[in-house]
Amino acid sequence: LYNQVQDLKGSIRVYCRVRPFLPGQANRVNAVDHMDEGSITIITPSKYGKDGRKSFTFNRVFGPYVTQEEVFADTQPLIRSVLDGYNVCIFAYGQTGSGKTHTMTGPKELTPESVGVNYRALGDLFFISEQRKDSFSYEVSVQMIEIYNEQVRDLLAADEIRNSSQKGLNVPDANVVPVSSTSDVINLMNLGQKNRAVSSTAMNDRSSRSHSCLTVHVQGRELASGTIIRGCMHLVDLAGSERVDKSEVVGDRLKEAQHINKSLSALGDVISSLSQKNSHVPYRNSKLTQLLQDSLGGQAKTLMFIHISPEPDAVGETLSTLKFAERVSTV
Ligand code: ADP
Ligand code: MG
Repeated sequence: LYNQVQDLKGSIRVYCRVRPFLPGQANRVNAVDHMDEGSITIITPSKYGKDGRKSFTFNRVFGPYVTQEEVFADTQPLIRSVLDGYNVCIFAYGQTGSGKTHTMTGPKELTPESVGVNYRALGDLFFISEQRKDSFSYEVSVQMIEIYNEQVRDLLAADEIRNSSQKGLNVPDANVVPVSSTSDVINLMNLGQKNRAVSSTAMNDRSSRSHSCLTVHVQGRELASGTIIRGCMHLVDLAGSERVDKSEVVGDRLKEAQHINKSLSALGDVISSLSQKNSHVPYRNSKLTQLLQDSLGGQAKTLMFIHISPEPDAVGETLSTLKFAERVSTV
């Protein structure tokens, strides 16, 4: 039933999340004019006095005070479908500081209330597999990788992944670690974070300029028939989508920006050609889309969380984020 309900809505969903003003930012003008469950209207300031308004429609819009639990409630059916043998991709898109990591992982100080989609998704997988234990036996394993400048690094081994397989690149080249409880997962995520941080000291906050991907593999065996079903879920915290001013950056910083631009637009191209049901899907144009090829399109399900900041200063980036989302959306 869950899958039927989901299929009716199409296999690409776009949710928009607006982050609140941060402490110390109170009493600022809000760039969001209006929002409801499925639409958002942004104020686009004009130099000539009369502000404009622009509206966008998505599968869901989450306002600044929507809790992590409420956001996850709308994500949960996808988690269940992984146990039914579907492949799922969940992306967090938006400019740096818009709340991507908050949605996927949570804030710096994690509490049971504040943890994000990653922890909740795995908690759910274990919970449901326990519920089904009389008819299914499930095995869960995870991988964590980072893509920086089109290079893939294994965060659970802290080394670079060679382009060894014939397809050019394969997630199976990264360590696959079996997990059997939420605390196993927390330990691995901490290890991944630590490995990620090692490289960021030299290059200051590399995390906002790389994509990080937590992949969860689920294999279930139906006890009565012996039938095996496999599903997998990729939880992707994307690099910041902000455009850097080409006149201001040179060298490494420019190269990073070009790689990010290229891979985010490649992702947009893939999802929008899937949503238009094009026969050619350009997976080959970036490492990210090559890596996720088997989980984008076909029977797979995609959820894109797009994040926006409420500040008027950010309105340029906000509009470009909303336009990206509009392009990949089927609503
Ligand atoms: P990004 O990963 O997109 O760069 P972060 O997730 O790090 O952004 O968010 C930036 C800051 O805003 C962090 O301090 C984060 O805790 C806070 N924040 C983001 N979204 C929310 C939210 N929905 N509610 C409360 N605080 C948030
Ligand atoms: Mg982040």
